[in-house]
Amino acid sequence: MTSLPSQIFRFAPSPSGHLHLGHAYSALFSWTQAQKHNAQFILRIEDIDTTRCRKEYADAIYEDLSWLGLNWTKPPRIQSEHTEDYDQALIKLKEQDLLYPCFCTRKDIQNEVRQSNRAPHGPDGLIYPGTCKNLSLSQREERIAQGESYALRLNMARARTLTGELYWLDEREGNIKATPEIFGDVVLARKDIHTSYHLSVTVDDALQNISCITRGTDLFEATHIHRLLQAVLKLPVPTWHHHELIHDEEGNRLAKRHNSLAIRELRGQGKSPEDIKEMVGIKNLS
Ligand code: GLU
Repeated sequence: MTSLPSQIFRFAPSPSGHLHLGHAYSALFSWTQAQKHNAQFILRIEDIDTTRCRKEYADAIYEDLSWLGLNWTKPPRIQSEHTEDYDQALIKLKEQDLLYPCFCTRKDIQNEVRQSNRAPHGPDGLIYPGTCKNLSLSQREERIAQGESYALRLNMARARTLTGELYWLDEREGNIKATPEIFGDVVLARKDIHTSYHLSVTVDDALQNISCITRGTDLFEATHIHRLLQAVLKLPVPTWHHHELIHDEEGNRLAKRHNSLAIRELRGQGKSPEDIKEMVGIKNLS
């Protein structure tokens, strides 16, 4: 019996629409890297946002990827089926006093920022001004008991004191010093969903033993937070390879809303998998 290679690469789409050329590039990039390293290639369906994600889109993703000639060595991990793993991670963070409940609405945050005349921004927009961080334990308990909904935020300052300096390796950019504080106290469990992108992606990449995380440069900065979460959750540290994003002839980034560039649309127009590879410049992948 031959055993599977130990290195693992992944593609982790969110099934909130059909795959477009940008996704095809990302999937092919990861797949090509996996072939190059004689590694496994696996899939993860990032469907925690149940308001936006649908099963039929996940099915369409499998079909489009198979049509492109990709195959994966394990059944895909479906995030919505693993909420207990994210709960476990939240417990570990709570035990280290790294979370606090935040009752603020978007409007509350905007008002607070307006009043303070300071509006520091991070990669995800406005940095949370810390309103709920200053609530006392009894205030928190009372509001929770009254049924107010809340998100869980990371106490970034405390997390930083626990971790000290951190670094991560990007295959293109080299050794990077982690600066997760540029995001402020990020939400790790949303009000509507008991997790978040940052938490679930970090937990899953560890549980799936990913050795190199490939994804677009649009998520480069998010890696600072993921590196911090790995440190406080005591998870293994992989490498990352953030690839460039592809653009259309006018220089616009290819996004899901460009329906005409959905893979199935192009399939319908008679394009072949080879045509798609050429359109995304797969030959230039390195
Ligand atoms: N699910 C994310 C997306 O579709 C990608 C997450 C990742 O690769 O880390 O944009």
